[in-house]
Amino acid sequence: MAESLALVGIGSLVTNEPSLGDGPLGILPDAAVVIEDGRISWVGPSGECGDADQRIDLEGRAMLPGFVDSHAHPVFAGDRAAEFAARMGGQPYAAGGIRTTVAATRAASDDDLRAGVQRLAAEFRASGITTFEAKSGYGLTTADESRALRIAAESTAETTYLGAHVVPQEFAGRPDDYVDLVIGDMLDACAPHARWIDVFCDRGAFDADQARAILTAGIARGLLPRIHANQLQHGDGIRLAVEVGAASADHCTHASDDDLALLAGSDTVATLLPGAEFSTRSPYPDGRRMVDAGVTVAVATDCNPGSSFTTSMPFCIAVAVRDMHLTPDEAVWSATAGGARALRRDDIGHVRVGARADLVSLNAPSHVHLAYRPGVDLVDRVWASPPTPKVGS
Ligand SMILES: [Zn+2]
Repeated sequence: MAESLALVGIGSLVTNEPSLGDGPLGILPDAAVVIEDGRISWVGPSGECGDADQRIDLEGRAMLPGFVDSHAHPVFAGDRAAEFAARMGGQPYAAGGIRTTVAATRAASDDDLRAGVQRLAAEFRASGITTFEAKSGYGLTTADESRALRIAAESTAETTYLGAHVVPQEFAGRPDDYVDLVIGDMLDACAPHARWIDVFCDRGAFDADQARAILTAGIARGLLPRIHANQLQHGDGIRLAVEVGAASADHCTHASDDDLALLAGSDTVATLLPGAEFSTRSPYPDGRRMVDAGVTVAVATDCNPGSSFTTSMPFCIAVAVRDMHLTPDEAVWSATAGGARALRRDDIGHVRVGARADLVSLNAPSHVHLAYRPGVDLVDRVWASPPTPKVGS
């Protein structure tokens, strides 16, 4: 029989199941969770928890579902600290910086790329992230894109083919030829290693017609669509996301009322990436306006070396609250259940019987402390299936 583990004495448990507790987060005070076989087998008041093979007393700490990071670019080589410093010194953000990382990534060995992904995966875990998405997009050749996805797939099931990140130097002035490659040989090589297809639909990247052709080709190959939309300016990205049934439209920094109405009437999540505006000193999207319009909102790290080099979901939650005007409850929901929606997963992002036993305990009495105490490492322990202690503890 499987070993069972009872986590008792949880001061405040965020379940994201309104039927289990108070409010939209379904908060249960003085709670317990029982884990068996990597799944949650019981949730309820601590005093009613039955026997288990092992018992851990959380001594009043808060617990919540493991964070779900639905947007990350962890497969790359190189460092762009100097570019960041120059930008903070007043130079504008330019999409061309991506090409610096492309050159470094192409030159890196498999082992170097793998070591980079594993280092960032450990950082994700330490910040309480138990599921992360990983995009390609710094190879931009058939061999380099498929290599990135193969390596990403060693660390996560949520792999995303982003051959259409930017037009590489060797295709300068011939973007349509590059699109042909992205939906031709490159797609053939990448589709077996990817669950998702993504495109950067914005100024300096791909226009709506190119993006539609790319997503449609990916869908025909069995990949699920998601999109970088409306980061740098108003445009067609959000409309296209809804048109093709994308799981998520990411960034949405510049969204019209019509865009929000379309999102609210669809299954497409708006994924906010607070680290991107923070690290490019750009205006933040108004998350409050999105939630009030009925849009489902996720919060993710956008971890990448150019415009958001963070692996900390608590940091993203704090900025989403402070500068995107989400409430602490909304930001925590968006970083857990919202991220799960953005990845079309129902086995993660909540605490209920049958869900994966992906849980985070905090050295704090409430999840609100994630935003209330910015920059403080409050993560106590991380359970993920299979169970793993927090890295470094
Ligand atoms: Zn991105």
